[in-house]
Amino acid sequence: MTQPIRIAVAGAAGRMGRHLMQATLEHAELHLAAAVARPGHAAVGMDAGALAGVESCGVAIVDDLEAALSGTNIDVVIDFTLPEALAGNLAACREAGVPIVIGTTGLSAEQKAELERASTHLPIVFAANYSAGITLSLKLLDIAARALGDDFDVEVIEAHHRHKIDAPSGTALRMGEVLADALGRDLSDCAVFGREGRTGERDSKTIGFETIRGGDVVGEHTVMFLGQGERMEITHRASSRMTFARGAVRAAGWLVRQPAGLYDMEDVLGLR
Ligand code: NAD
Repeated sequence: MTQPIRIAVAGAAGRMGRHLMQATLEHAELHLAAAVARPGHAAVGMDAGALAGVESCGVAIVDDLEAALSGTNIDVVIDFTLPEALAGNLAACREAGVPIVIGTTGLSAEQKAELERASTHLPIVFAANYSAGITLSLKLLDIAARALGDDFDVEVIEAHHRHKIDAPSGTALRMGEVLADALGRDLSDCAVFGREGRTGERDSKTIGFETIRGGDVVGEHTVMFLGQGERMEITHRASSRMTFARGAVRAAGWLVRQPAGLYDMEDVLGLR
């Protein structure tokens, strides 16, 4: 029998962390070997299974990823934390030579560059959205934008729960990058974030973003292609965080067999 893949979850006490621990504990070929929360968090010392809302699993939440990686045989880390935590978590993984699946969004250009640098030494999956539906939506957006071209205005609208701290969502920005690439534009030049006041007519070369925040919305994205006399929309609605957690856990199982490099969910799902 093959050994289960040993997973460490960073951000264990967060909304996604709990779902990631549940998805790992429910997966027959994976083993939750470590769960790491922010130092000082009330969850430190608690049983990871109990925190995830499933059975106790005998793994206590700790507060130091580096120590967890040196003390336990970990095959892969899954990190859904905060952008500020990324550098430390990447350094700990590099030091221990452990691949990492990253779901944290709101990364700066410098933090993304750090990811790229680390990926020359480590296998890394980074995706702004680990759901299979969004991964496929990105493909569909590329096809639609190439087919419809500059005759259609493109707008990206997203909605998330009231606790989300970055906007637009990482997924909306990724959609924007895919659309801009397909249309031969540079997103940093053509993105328009929200509109107010006397804006003038819409510039047909822009890509617009609108953000809605409130309640418990898990994540909704719609891209509108607005033409003369017709409008096409591609919409994805996530109704449970388990969809992201199962995707990230699948990515972790895939990543342990890959060489150093920066991968995304299209690689994991074999869509390249
Ligand atoms: P959250 O605020 O509930 O959880 C983040 C957790 O990380 C908190 O418990 C925080 O204390 C902890 N943390 C901060 N620094 C840490 C450190 N150094 N070590 C360990 N833990 C640390 O947020 P969330 O809703 O769980 O989302 C987390 C991130 O994942 C956000 O960036 C969010 O946008 C992103 N996200 C990504 C996807 C995806 O599919 N890629 C899906 C949902 C959320």
